[in-house]
Amino acid sequence: MYDYDLLVVGSANADLVIGVERRPAAGETVLGSDLAVHPGGKGGNQAVAAARLGARTALLARVGDDDYGRLLLDSQRAAGVDTVGVLVGGAPTGVALITVDPSGDNSIVVSPGANGRLAPGDVRAAASLFHASRVVSTQLEIPLETVVEVVRSLAPDSRFVLNPSPPRPLPQEVLTACDPLIVNEHEAKVILGDSLVGERPEDWARVLLAKGPRSVVVTLGAEGALVASAAGGVVRVPSVKVDAVDTTGAGDAFTAALAWRLGTGESLADAAAYAARVGAAAVTKAGAQESYPTAAEAEDLGA
Ligand code: ATP
Repeated sequence: MYDYDLLVVGSANADLVIGVERRPAAGETVLGSDLAVHPGGKGGNQAVAAARLGARTALLARVGDDDYGRLLLDSQRAAGVDTVGVLVGGAPTGVALITVDPSGDNSIVVSPGANGRLAPGDVRAAASLFHASRVVSTQLEIPLETVVEVVRSLAPDSRFVLNPSPPRPLPQEVLTACDPLIVNEHEAKVILGDSLVGERPEDWARVLLAKGPRSVVVTLGAEGALVASAAGGVVRVPSVKVDAVDTTGAGDAFTAALAWRLGTGESLADAAAYAARVGAAAVTKAGAQESYPTAAEAEDLGA
């Protein structure tokens, strides 16, 4: 019996957002709106999304010993995430400095800060969390060697889910452990590089699968997703029709929901259909973590 349905290993950032009439050119200063501070980072987002749905969730991450770190810890706890694995100190909390213009285009500078200091040794020191977790999910906003250590630390029966974002080529050891590897179009293209065959997402899924993951999911925004495995072939998962307000963090909500449902024993296609419902619910509200639905809200979404 596992204590946690999902252990998320990953980044936690404070997103500092200022609205501007025009994003500044080199050497230019522009005045903007009041500052808005939002909890973010792909790891933090996934953990909050899973906990909101009712999954017993733990987060392994690193934040700074500063006000942003405390804010992130508070928001994780408020969502019901167990933060016993969140380490404090070593560098300032990761931040994303975001300017957004009226058309919605943004410029973003990320300081990984403490996320970049989440080390393989931190993963080894959290062995008890790994043994207590049915599913482990991660992303690439932490050092790649830390992700490799995550793969080496998995309990024998646990399942590993990876969203390789921001994308970069992956060691074979990591690729082979993924069940599934979850990518959007951009991530698929970076990982496949020159070997990308054809224009159809079905083709990317097949070629990715041939690289070694046990299963693959390609997310397609408003078009839904498709899932691929050796046993089940390639299957389309339709999207749920909604009026999109803000797609920020939809991919993280999708990944968290999928990871949780796989742990309950659902098939990849069924878990992806549920995750598409959660991703669709997340785009109907502004923000990332603020937009994540409860299980009841995901259920209530139209067909
Ligand atoms: P991001 O990086 O912005 O968090 P992503 O590119 O990783 O997102 P998407 O493919 O945009 O991921 O979204 C994940 C899932 O959420 C999709 O597969 C789909 O099921 C759902 N989704 C996203 N956008 C929409 C939309 N406009 N309408 C309905 N469902 C959506």
